[in-house]
Amino acid sequence: MIDKLAFRALSSGLSIVTARDGEGCNVGCVINTLVQVASEPPTLSIALNKGNATARVVQESGRFAATVLGQGATMDLIGLFGFKSSDEVDKFANCEFRVCGDGVPLVTDHGVACFGVRVEHTVDVGSHLLFIGPVEQAEVLSDAEPMTYAYYHTVLRGKTPPKAASYNGGEANGAPKAQPADPAAAVEGSGEAPAAASGQPRYAWQCTLCGYIEEGYPDGLPDDYACPICGAGPEMFERIEL
Ligand code: FE
Repeated sequence: MIDKLAFRALSSGLSIVTARDGEGCNVGCVINTLVQVASEPPTLSIALNKGNATARVVQESGRFAATVLGQGATMDLIGLFGFKSSDEVDKFANCEFRVCGDGVPLVTDHGVACFGVRVEHTVDVGSHLLFIGPVEQAEVLSDAEPMTYAYYHTVLRGKTPPKAASYNGGEANGAPKAQPADPAAAVEGSGEAPAAASGQPRYAWQCTLCGYIEEGYPDGLPDDYACPICGAGPEMFERIEL
């Protein structure tokens, strides 16, 4: 048997992997599959869904960069790189980045550390391609705490996109019900949701695709509503208690 819950015991961190195609177009996506797999030479691996534009470009160009995200990374940034396609959106128009010596873009927004990698091995592992290669550049960007996937799920109440290596078929991510919608409040505040302070339950709408929480529509979201993070319509939202 395969108990999908077992996979949740695997810890990982959130990163943005980026690459540039032969025509100079920048692409990138959020991953939780950046792993150091050798110390000498320092070697990293990433797994990318075969259907991702970023996988196609990394395979063609043989290079990628990766930025480890800090806990301050916003759902806007994660949603932009995690839930939208580089084939449809210029993700770099809405974030801070710089270009490495080899021309590969590198996201600096909310970055803790970054790496530049030359791909030496590509392994077909089913839904994903595993890219492995030596690190040619490594740099610390800030002293922020790296964002673990568990933090993303429980504090930001983020969801796992279907193309992620850890996608579990869309089951609930196990986010605690009483977590406040504002991640800053969860980290810096008392930890007590505003609803508890007033004694009255508060309700909101949560996107079942990306986890975005919308407040202020007690009678339901309008028909033309679109999730600001992933673009999903109102039918993809469910009512939650804050
Ligand atoms: Fe969404």
